[in-house]
Amino acid sequence: MAQSAFEPAPTLIRKYGKGGRLELSVGFFQRLFEAGLDQPIKETPILQVLRSSDKKRDQFSLRAKLSDGIFDYTACFFDKKLMVQNDRDKFAEKVQKVGNTWIGGEIIAVTAGRWCSEVMLADQKYAFIVESYDLLARNLPELMPEGMTETKHHDGNPESFKGFKPQSSIGIPWGGSESGDMGEPAAKRAKPLSEQTNRIVPPMSTSVSGGGPLAGLASVTPIKSLSPYLQRWKIHGLVTNREELRAIKSKAGKDLRIFSFEIADKNGDKIRITGFDAEADKAATQIQQGQTYFIANGAVKTANKQWNYTGCDYEITLNRTSEITPSYDDKIEKPAFRLRICPLKDIPAHNGETVDVLVIVTEVGETQNFTSRNNKELTKRELTVVDKSGTETQVTLWGDVAKGFDPEAKGQVVGFKGYLVREFGGGYSLSSGFSSEYVLTPSLPEVAELYEWKDGEMSTTTFQKITATGGSNLLTNQRPLRLMQSLRLGDNASGAAEYVTIHADIVRIKPENSLYKACPSSDCKKKVVDVDGSYRCEKCGHTTQNFKWLYLLQSEISDGTASVYATIFSPVADQIIGKSADELGNIMEADHGEFMQILSDAYLKPYTFRIKAKSEFYNDENRMKYVVMKAANRDYAAYNQLLLNTIAKLDAITV
Ligand SMILES: [Zn+2]
Repeated sequence: MAQSAFEPAPTLIRKYGKGGRLELSVGFFQRLFEAGLDQPIKETPILQVLRSSDKKRDQFSLRAKLSDGIFDYTACFFDKKLMVQNDRDKFAEKVQKVGNTWIGGEIIAVTAGRWCSEVMLADQKYAFIVESYDLLARNLPELMPEGMTETKHHDGNPESFKGFKPQSSIGIPWGGSESGDMGEPAAKRAKPLSEQTNRIVPPMSTSVSGGGPLAGLASVTPIKSLSPYLQRWKIHGLVTNREELRAIKSKAGKDLRIFSFEIADKNGDKIRITGFDAEADKAATQIQQGQTYFIANGAVKTANKQWNYTGCDYEITLNRTSEITPSYDDKIEKPAFRLRICPLKDIPAHNGETVDVLVIVTEVGETQNFTSRNNKELTKRELTVVDKSGTETQVTLWGDVAKGFDPEAKGQVVGFKGYLVREFGGGYSLSSGFSSEYVLTPSLPEVAELYEWKDGEMSTTTFQKITATGGSNLLTNQRPLRLMQSLRLGDNASGAAEYVTIHADIVRIKPENSLYKACPSSDCKKKVVDVDGSYRCEKCGHTTQNFKWLYLLQSEISDGTASVYATIFSPVADQIIGKSADELGNIMEADHGEFMQILSDAYLKPYTFRIKAKSEFYNDENRMKYVVMKAANRDYAAYNQLLLNTIAKLDAITV
């Protein structure tokens, strides 16, 4: 634990020593934040290391809490290239006293540093990156003015300690003839600044006058040209959406204030902009819905499309260098309602993103009020919509949009813009979000065409439902087997499975490979490899003396219109066979005749099956794969309804 005595080199003493003392750069962090993060760091600050950690070596050599004698800042990082030097210097994890000796408290001169424009998400602070440093002293207590018990934590907000003026210098005897032994504990020293003759505290930095980067950039950047690689930009846009300033908790449990808004430029392209804490407060007072602004500077990053409904690939996080200026002379009008129409059948390919659709509303549900898990009152309304791609899905409207939706919209063409595609239980639906819009019978050329289709072909179209039906409700999407096959349900570009209900019988179960020997681990279903009487699981990587039997029934099912092979696993197979896989496995090995009898006992019983249909690419071709997810005794009421519907459709065919 104890550090060896540390002697600073004479060159360092000449460079950093002041009359036999080493002084911390008191107030450095406040000067840095006030100067702004876009300004180069002009000082060579002398700072004390209060804590250090090398637990994130994949990202940086050390994370440290550095102190300027008054303020400490926790988001300091030593660049990865300093690993060798850091390993040699071995900063202590924290300052502590062992016996009569202090450990840690290293003093360094940061000879090169920079801001990292990315906020470190853990605590929403900007990272101060140490790129090179000189180690000047070590084994010291935390240095601070007399009367203070700890340094002030700086949160990075320049307003927090605005106008701070160092009142005293803070340092240790160092390098000169009058300096003490560096291994000895150094007393906290603080003299009034006026008494100092050789103070090294530089004057307060002043920001460059004559306008920031906003003033310096003449031309406006189109929103669609923004990217993280664009160094300087200025956008000009209309605020189309504005959220309220609100308090949230970060993943690390820290309280944050967040404010988001969206602006659209004259091309109609939108981008979402978010500020946290001080930036949130500032932007929330400035930004008004329907007003036009110039905005410059901020971090452009890839949009999180789960929360960002603008359709833009990027979003902006405001930082201290961001400038928001109202544009009184040059206002932008609300962009015309435009759609980039996505056929409903293609929405599974946009899962988690927003799409625009032009559809016929076939059902308008009532509004439903409920309380969310975090005790929020929510209102929603479900719509059923179809389009010319022969697809039907659900649109969920939330909040005021749900309340305000006109029930008379049933039967109308509606354009939904910026709706989120959500996947649930193998199905896909649309959901309204922050910047979603809809227009009843919008003035778009495609609308007349869609009304024509509605009056003609729509009535005879069999819609493919892509809404979530999961394995739960047996009565949705009932099909004759023949139709399931010929429509190739479950065969779509997105690779999403479809769930279909079939009223059918098992007509045959292939006896060979109907059971397999699996890894005995309770949560493993991997087939084991027989190695000289032992069983090896490639997944778990172990060899065992035993195995368990599992079902893999290849069963032919038929409903009179067609037959298909479907796979049945446990627990559905246990239910159909009436025995566990282990029981049947033992019978199979003991008495093959008995085994065959048990399989055939399952034939020709009236079942209602829930089938998962999915296309799989196998041996250079797409093959349909069917799995029985659920089996129940035939639901005759549902079955009769299916037959009646089928008969009605047959009647509609005129010969
Ligand atoms: Zn295993």
